[in-house]
Amino acid sequence: MSMKAILWIVSVHICSAQQGPDVVVCMETLAGPLKRNSPNYMPPESACYPESNPSGNCTDIQVNALMIDGVLTKQGSVPPVGVDTLCVKDVQAAVRFTADHDLCLVVKNTGHNYLGRSTAKGAFMIWTHHLKDITTNSAFVPNGAPESKMHNGWDLRPQHARGWLTGGRHGAFSPQHGPSVNIAIQITTVMASSKHLTANSHVNFELFWAVRGGGEGTYGVLTSVTYRTHKITPLTVAFLISKFSLPTVEKEILTKYLKLWPGLADVSWGSYLEIPNSGASLSTDLTLFLVAPNVSWANINVTINPFFNFIQNAQPDAFTTTVHFNTYYSFYQALFAAATSKPVGFNVEVASHLLPRETFDHPEHLADVIMGFQESIQLIHIGGGKISEIDPDSAGLNPAWCKVIVHMVVGNGWLSDLCCRAKFRDDLAILESLAPGGGAYFNEASLYELNQQMFFGDHYDHLEEIKDLFIVAEGVGSERWDTALNCKLY
Ligand SMILES: Cc1cc2nc3c(=O)[nH]c(=O)nc-3n(C[C@H](O)[C@H](O)[C@H](O)COP(=O)(O)OP(=O)(O)OC[C@H]3O[C@@H](n4cnc5c(N)ncnc54)[C@H](O)[C@@H]3O)c2cc1C
Repeated sequence: MSMKAILWIVSVHICSAQQGPDVVVCMETLAGPLKRNSPNYMPPESACYPESNPSGNCTDIQVNALMIDGVLTKQGSVPPVGVDTLCVKDVQAAVRFTADHDLCLVVKNTGHNYLGRSTAKGAFMIWTHHLKDITTNSAFVPNGAPESKMHNGWDLRPQHARGWLTGGRHGAFSPQHGPSVNIAIQITTVMASSKHLTANSHVNFELFWAVRGGGEGTYGVLTSVTYRTHKITPLTVAFLISKFSLPTVEKEILTKYLKLWPGLADVSWGSYLEIPNSGASLSTDLTLFLVAPNVSWANINVTINPFFNFIQNAQPDAFTTTVHFNTYYSFYQALFAAATSKPVGFNVEVASHLLPRETFDHPEHLADVIMGFQESIQLIHIGGGKISEIDPDSAGLNPAWCKVIVHMVVGNGWLSDLCCRAKFRDDLAILESLAPGGGAYFNEASLYELNQQMFFGDHYDHLEEIKDLFIVAEGVGSERWDTALNCKLY
């Protein structure tokens, strides 16, 4: 196909509701001429095509673009062609098309995956980002379930959050409400055979078990997830922002916090602690953001003020405050909505491990290790509470999550591949020494992790029995493929 070097997302739909004069043909004709439904989809390189008769002046492209496999492109590891799917039939047709033409398939939703699982050089992409309508149902009964299994309250059917559900998940509210794998009550998915299946506790249970935490992009193309929702409750947040005058002060404050944390996890608080470029001694910052769902302002102050007073004594210019929000939405508006207008995106590679409660038995040692890193450190406190109450075998999720107190992330910016590989391997060894065999969060892990057992624990063998034909980097079954996931090794 002469369009090989062009990222061309085609809006070719076979769902009747989507068809219009500009939204062309059915998938079966995809091998023929492709049409766009918006001028915005025209990539700059299109001026060079067809190569025998360029449609515009492509001198600039030829001077600045890269060549991959002898083909002009600036795209690197990006699929040159794909389908912007709007309905289940689109997904089924795209899966069939990929199989019929023996193409490498990638599924992409938001493209947030750190490990590049939603992209690949020369692949055909199924883009699910526009499959995102949300409906609610106050009397949702999963397929195949008796009426008595009707769920009270509102059910939400978002057709998104795929990588998040299948890869595991975490959030500040996880200790309060449990993991996403616990609140998912039904999924629908298009399998490699292009069959559209529904899975829940009553039908296709094995698939339902695996999808919940058993690894993204591995059990078909998800087309919907139904989540049980929760009552809206108020919440209070506490902030600390500090620059340390001395490493001894940093260690004192960090150790105090690490001693405090397990107790806060037990009452279902969540928190994010960030130390950018830890180890840069005198100028080290610390930002701490604690979220206490359904806790009154008075109560959070009683709990947190002794810690804040301690900080102010040690570092008088530290900023501390608590703020109350009546709803999650007001919290979201105040903290996140404004940020959307700012530029986003930067080069960062991460390594991370899950730390169990025992790691906090030695807070001084943990503080030393954290301060010893030269990279940015994030301690994402999303364990404890309901997370520790789940039955470890109720879903494909790594059982290590039940013991987790903190997801510790080491992050580094990079300019080229050469800078980081060895460094990240060293970082992984340090994380492993903190909690040997503790496990890692599949979605925010390092590409240099030792083996898949780190992501799936002793669920691995069963997940492999259930998995569909799909393969992603470091996912279930990927060890049988070469690193580019193009050739099966055994
Ligand atoms: C800035 C940032 C913040 C983050 N914050 C958090 C956080 O707070 N909590 C948390 O738990 N994680 C967080 N993550 C990690 C995030 O959960 C993962 O990156 C996740 O993989 C994103 O899923 P996605 O579907 O949005 O992304 P994508 O990159 O589009 O997809 C991720 C994976 O899912 C597969 N996939 C996508 N759609 C489908 C589908 N329909 N069917 C089957 N497979 C599919 C893709 O093939 C790929 O393997 C964050 C990531 C970033 C970059």
